[in-house]
Amino acid sequence: MKSSILLNSDEITLAVNRISLQVLEKNHSPDNLAIVGIHTCGVFLAERIRKFVEQQTSQSVPHGSLDINLYRDDWSLITQNPVVKTTDISFAVEGRDIILVDDVLFTGRTIRAALDALMDYGRPHSVQLAILIDRGGRELPIQADYIGLSTTVRTDERIQVMFTENGGQDEVLLQNQ
Ligand code: 5GP
Ligand code: MG
Repeated sequence: MKSSILLNSDEITLAVNRISLQVLEKNHSPDNLAIVGIHTCGVFLAERIRKFVEQQTSQSVPHGSLDINLYRDDWSLITQNPVVKTTDISFAVEGRDIILVDDVLFTGRTIRAALDALMDYGRPHSVQLAILIDRGGRELPIQADYIGLSTTVRTDERIQVMFTENGGQDEVLLQNQ
């Protein structure tokens, strides 16, 4: 298997900081923000964005997580639907500006499932999507508001996202056979 580096550690930090600043630029009332990460790497990213926003604003930002499982052991099998396993949303969703965070955006089906799960908790004022890697290949009309890196990836290729929170070093690799 061949792999090449898409983002190194410094580039990941820059992308996270840029996304956080864009969130603040777009949302003039940071006290209305909440951040929700999608397991597993989306939660790590969401935490980093949250810490940056909290440092900038000196306000605490409510946060939560969604665990969404793909019926997808085979990465080339992209027609299956993701299912929401568990949700951890302990703040009032009603009227909030929610930043939904995931590591990779592909078909858009995970985000569709996440939006469904969020809406069960109430009517947010807005939901904005932050993604580290947009790999293209959308099958639904879903786009990210904040993107670390956009790159077109073949269906037989895979992006490997590694974070220090997972025990390794921060790195995003493109892997192909
Ligand atoms: P989608 O539902 O948009 O097809 O896929 C997005 C979900 O699958 C995300 O939660 C993401 O973590 C995962 N995913 C899709 N493609 C890749 C990939 O190439 N690499 C990694 N690490 N995750 C992916
Ligand atoms: Mg995922």
